[in-house]
Amino acid sequence: MTTRLILATRNQHKVAELRAILGDAGLDVELVGADAYPEIPDVPETGVTFAENALLKAHALATATGLPAVADDSGLCVDVLNGAPGIFSARWAGKHGDDRANLDLLLAQLSDIAPEHRGAHFFCAAALALPDGTERVVEGRLPGTLRTAPAGEGGFGYDPVLQPLGETRTCAEMTADEKNAISHRGQAFRALAPVVRELLG
Ligand code: IMP
Repeated sequence: MTTRLILATRNQHKVAELRAILGDAGLDVELVGADAYPEIPDVPETGVTFAENALLKAHALATATGLPAVADDSGLCVDVLNGAPGIFSARWAGKHGDDRANLDLLLAQLSDIAPEHRGAHFFCAAALALPDGTERVVEGRLPGTLRTAPAGEGGFGYDPVLQPLGETRTCAEMTADEKNAISHRGQAFRALAPVVRELLG
């Protein structure tokens, strides 16, 4: 019997990405986004780590629906800022989701930092929670360096300033498929497939 699994996001690109990864792994799982359950409110991200926030969201959704649930939490961690913006990535400039303001503030903060000290990585924690309280967390990481000015039109968030190690382009200059193949979220989602098989297969 096909198992229904919910992903705690209203972003259809994330749903499609995880659905494709679970499909490639040969898992008989029907993945739906949280918008299939519009009556369930979003969970405040009150944790202080990516893993805590992913677990909070996954448990809340699993409890509310009685179905297994996956949630992810991600952000940009800058070496010279001791890992910030980190869990504050989406609201670094104050207003949640203002990508342009977040990017401008970060570039201003790093304006006098030399190229060799501009290391950073995208990080993603992905959690699977079952209604009985069982939980698992996996992680993914995309290391790179930060440009001094944005480049590229693709992607979102900090994509125009992160140049992955070994690349000459920023994430915003890659196709979605190229980025998914190396991204923190792609890695975490691929690491989830065997966990889904173990707990739901
Ligand atoms: P979320 O966990 O997907 O909600 O992402 C939180 C924030 O981290 C986003 O608003 C972005 O600022 C940043 N972020 C996470 N993943 C990426 C990425 O792949 N590219 C660029 N920014 C990202």
